Amino acid sequence: MRTITTHANPTTGLRGVNEHHWRKRAACYGMDAKLADALFFPTPRDLRAIDQARAICGPCPVRQACFDAAMDSGSSHGIWAGLTEHERASWHEKTRARLDDNRVHAFLDGRAVALSPKERKAVVRIACQRGWDAERIGYLLGHNLEYTQKLMRVAEDEIARAKNATDTPPEAAANFNDAPRDQERPAGLRNFGTAA
Ligand code: SF4
Repeated sequence: MRTITTHANPTTGLRGVNEHHWRKRAACYGMDAKLADALFFPTPRDLRAIDQARAICGPCPVRQACFDAAMDSGSSHGIWAGLTEHERASWHEKTRARLDDNRVHAFLDGRAVALSPKERKAVVRIACQRGWDAERIGYLLGHNLEYTQKLMRVAEDEIARAKNATDTPPEAAANFNDAPRDQERPAGLRNFGTAA
């Protein structure tokens, strides 16, 4: 991706994790900035540029990481991993709706994982269940104390309601595995989002 593999232009959405070593192996790494801009950020009708970008992305050795980065950053602009904005749209939706227990627990264990809104809520809920205080949870999620306390109140309400209602685990914890994962993935790509 031109904006994440060259240095002369603003980034359009780095993935929310600190593992960027893959960029230097990208097929587009070091491309002339103007050319890269024209190819990877074409106008919708510039089919020639889109085809050229796809031809570069096709054999790119870091295509999977590029796709993950697009998902994690939520970037809806440009061509990433050989996919246009339109082609990625449904994947961005799935990523925003993702609720993956592996990712949640990896985050709680200290991995820098880009979480969906549902996964962030699950982090707060589990952290509350573990008895973590607001400072710790806020630091982890990058929220201020006031907002973190608000999230904790919501999580504690949910935990209490779930306990009163059924004696089963809170809904989100029970539904972790509902998250779309490897099914219906784009051709040649294993999954979506940062692997936890
Ligand atoms: S898949 Fe395409 S846009 Fe992504 S890093 Fe490789 S060449 Fe660049």
